[in-house]
Amino acid sequence: MYNVVTPGPTKVKENVFKARSLECTNPDLDVEFVEQYKKLCLRISKLLNTTNETLILGGEGILGLEAACASLTEEGDRVLVIDNGIFGAGFADFVSMYGGTPVLYTKDYNQTIDVNELASFLEKDSNFKYATLVHGDTPSGMLNDAAAICKLLKSKGIMTVVDAVSTMFGDKLDVSDIDILCGGSQKVISAPPGLTINVLSDDAKAAINGRKSPIKAFYANLKTFFNYYEEKWFPYTMPISDINGLDVAISNLENDPDTYARHEKVASAVRTAITEAGLEIYVKSGFANTVTAFVVPSETTAKDILDTLKSDHNILMAGSFGVFGGKLIRIGHMGTNANKDIILEVMDALDKTLTKLGVPLKASLKEVFDQNC
Ligand SMILES: *Cc1c(COP(=O)(O)O)cnc(C)c1O
Repeated sequence: MYNVVTPGPTKVKENVFKARSLECTNPDLDVEFVEQYKKLCLRISKLLNTTNETLILGGEGILGLEAACASLTEEGDRVLVIDNGIFGAGFADFVSMYGGTPVLYTKDYNQTIDVNELASFLEKDSNFKYATLVHGDTPSGMLNDAAAICKLLKSKGIMTVVDAVSTMFGDKLDVSDIDILCGGSQKVISAPPGLTINVLSDDAKAAINGRKSPIKAFYANLKTFFNYYEEKWFPYTMPISDINGLDVAISNLENDPDTYARHEKVASAVRTAITEAGLEIYVKSGFANTVTAFVVPSETTAKDILDTLKSDHNILMAGSFGVFGGKLIRIGHMGTNANKDIILEVMDALDKTLTKLGVPLKASLKEVFDQNC
């Protein structure tokens, strides 16, 4: 088994594995499961500091993004797609797929969204049913100020959908102005992939309930969950073992009040180490505390770095994809991996790997990381 430091899926703790192997009841018929599900949803909302309703869907993080778009979009709706990263741009496909018209607001992929610039744009055109944006765009390590952006959008009467799959519980976020917040089990939460989290505001529910046309999806239809508690009925058999695992992973977070501070500390030390070693962090502003992407140095290739980390150090790290394919290496320091000892080992392996591949380092990543963490 590799030491996995990818930006999700992350390392899963033993108590989560154990919970997933418990004997199962029938989640369709046993009302105790409905109670457990409801309580878990309430606990997630509480951890996010909101009274908005959490729903947990059986399906990987992408399902949450699709469900948000499927449930909100009606034929011809204009949707503002805020695009400064690969996941940011990706929302346009979901909007079109469900009959909407995506209007892309495309900005540099190495800069965080400038809220004032967006405000000027909205002065000219704010006729959108909702807007999509990404809190942490994982392929580049970009962090957007989703709270400020959503506040602005809401002030213009635009609903907001935020992909916080890779940042939820790692980068602090005020969710007050977010109508549908999307999270996933396999990032900071450190449970295996398989569950998506959607947190809905009253405005989002009212918009979904008030649709003129039916939602063109079943599995990605959030409305089918709206009365699950009253009716003690789910639209499909819930993946109870996944939910049992998530339940314990959420307890791990509840028992860990320092999670945000630890992500900040580890991430900031990683950034200092990368910079002092003479490597280049890809983003110039907006640094996610869950993942750091650095530019592949000219002396080597992404493949050689990743292969050497695997063969010499048993470490599974990630490159990137799409426009960043072959260009960036990503160190995932989220969830269980937001940990000094783990990342210290990774920095040591990177020192040795880059040196072996002929990349001159101005400082030892391991030493600088150690001094700063
Ligand atoms: C991981 C992630 C998702 C879920 O997508 P997968 O690529 O299927 O893991 C969605 N959004 C963001 C920002 C993510 O980091």
